[in-house]
Amino acid sequence: MEPWPWKTIIEPFRIKAVEPIPLLHPAERAAALRRAGHNLFKLLADEVTIDLLTDSGTGSMSASQWGALMEGDESYAGSRSFLQLQAVVHDIMGFPHVLPVHQGRAAERILARTLIPPGAVVLNNTHFDTTRAHVEQAGALALDLPVAEALRPQDGSPFKGDMDLAALDAALAEHGSKVVMVMLTLTNNAAGGQPVSMANIEAVSARARAAGVPFYIDAARFAENSWFIHSREPGYDRWSLLDIARRIFSLADGCTMSAKKDGIVNIGGLLCTRDDKVAELFRNELILSEGFPTYGGLAGRDLAAMAVGLGEALDVDYLRYRAKSIAYFAEGLRQVGVPVVQPAGGHAVFIDAGALLPHLPAEQLPGVAVANALYLEGGVRSVEIGELMFPGHAPLQLVRLAVPRRVYTQSHIDYVIEVAAKVAARSSTLGGYRIVHEPPFLRHFSAELAPLQG
Ligand SMILES: *Cc1c(COP(=O)(O)O)cnc(C)c1O
Repeated sequence: MEPWPWKTIIEPFRIKAVEPIPLLHPAERAAALRRAGHNLFKLLADEVTIDLLTDSGTGSMSASQWGALMEGDESYAGSRSFLQLQAVVHDIMGFPHVLPVHQGRAAERILARTLIPPGAVVLNNTHFDTTRAHVEQAGALALDLPVAEALRPQDGSPFKGDMDLAALDAALAEHGSKVVMVMLTLTNNAAGGQPVSMANIEAVSARARAAGVPFYIDAARFAENSWFIHSREPGYDRWSLLDIARRIFSLADGCTMSAKKDGIVNIGGLLCTRDDKVAELFRNELILSEGFPTYGGLAGRDLAAMAVGLGEALDVDYLRYRAKSIAYFAEGLRQVGVPVVQPAGGHAVFIDAGALLPHLPAEQLPGVAVANALYLEGGVRSVEIGELMFPGHAPLQLVRLAVPRRVYTQSHIDYVIEVAAKVAARSSTLGGYRIVHEPPFLRHFSAELAPLQG
């Protein structure tokens, strides 16, 4: 593949439809944040200028995807759009059984209801928050086994999403037959969007197989992970992205996927398996909660758009631009004095809020302090990934600036860097937050917070 010889990153697309974004007065932002209980999840879209809350379901669809929507087949059973999606998934992932679901957590719920009994243990490089919630809801133990580098924000190792193989061996030995599933989250979202190497996927797969435990991939960002294998792992620069993706999935027994990420759709997900008996169990659950197996909680047009998006996500020009523009974002923040997790992740830049606000202990939610300051300063919405999201077991206090796919241009990113520079300049004056009210699960979505001072 041709290297990009220019300093300037260009978006490998031009804009066909535009959407205005709100520009607010500082007093309007302060009032909005108060009304939202100091929780950025509770802001209205019309109160946000640059929305980096998530890359989930926030991407721009291509002209081909919009075209495919129009051709979506809305038949209740046997939809053409399902066959189209199934063919694409067979081609990229190779799993014989393909179940569409409305989003990733629906796949996780079905997986948990069918394969994870109470008292069981599930091993993952790092469980994403919804995955952990489903495992725990099933009465099982969700164990994270990240490599030590994942916990060192300034360590520039290329595959910080890897699972710690010694810890995997120890967990398999300790928990024995209670281990019902080994999972790898690609890329490792909760640990900074860091990729997992092919060597690690192979090693984890081999160990799971030897232990007789099913190995599943959380494939939300399989394409971005494939790009990092292509560009960082020796020997893979001559492999096509499609072949890398095929090799990854060939090592697994199944996958869950939120297609709102690397499916580049606004809604959709997948649950796949090689096992005929497991597929039967999945389908029974699918019919109960999602719908008939050829639509699974989606409209035919959604399946059609997903089929196109999965292919576009593996486009080399798109993935190169995406990785380079996120690295540019991280480097820009670093240059204005904002500590960021190194190296840049695949879908987001993670600010090390613990390092930026060393005067605040984890209980005072330094990530929330930074995220709320970015909003007050310039209407930038981000998300805390730390004590609020993972009470008691957040290894780092981070703020994630997730970059929606094909939505913002370099000037938007330059603006965010300018806003962050102003926040960094007054970081020693930022105070912490306390929790006023929290729900029992996934508390970060709806918790009400209050500043500790003023
Ligand atoms: C988003 C995400 C999920 C959950 O998917 P939803 O579509 O939001 O339900 C699961 N795992 C990972 C790694 C994710 O990023």
